[in-house]
Amino acid sequence: MNKRYEKLKKVKDDVTACQRCPLFKTRILPVIGKGNHQSKIMLIGEAPGSNEDKTGIPFCGRAGDILTELLDSINFQREDVYICNILKCRPPNNRNPQIDEIESCAPYLEKQIEIIKPKILGTLGNYATSYILKKYNLSNEIQGISKIHGKIFKVKTLFGEIEIIPLYHPAVATYNANMKEVLKKDFQIFKKVNDK
Ligand code: URA
Repeated sequence: MNKRYEKLKKVKDDVTACQRCPLFKTRILPVIGKGNHQSKIMLIGEAPGSNEDKTGIPFCGRAGDILTELLDSINFQREDVYICNILKCRPPNNRNPQIDEIESCAPYLEKQIEIIKPKILGTLGNYATSYILKKYNLSNEIQGISKIHGKIFKVKTLFGEIEIIPLYHPAVATYNANMKEVLKKDFQIFKKVNDK
């Protein structure tokens, strides 16, 4: 078994036992992450919804179908990337994540980033984007996703340079079909960056 697998298994065990915030009481399954542990690309969503809560798999419902379609539009499969969320447990009734929940849960995401060492972080929606920009000292760049989607922010980390790409959350395309085209255009950036 390789090192990344073992380290990610430890994250999974820690999240499964986690009681740092009250969400563990109401969720069914924690949703840790899924995909290629060697990928250059990590996609970070917000929090599990009802389908994810039942299966433990990120983005496996309607927003997930759109995500799969977006990846398909650049000839990527889900297995080509690593997909996870800021919150590992579902907030009741899919309400927005709360600040204290993000603070409690984010160390798990940070571990995942440390282990996978991606070159590109695609942040899906406002919560993931704000969290990641803040983490990499880019708080002054935080704006609504409609203003910064598709931009590329380069940051230095202990394991090399990362490119952060803020994106709309795929769920927006479930109620606004035009947004799918905007997302598809932004997803082209992954292709260019990944081919470098
Ligand atoms: N929305 C998210 O942000 N994450 C999921 O895993 C599913 C829907």
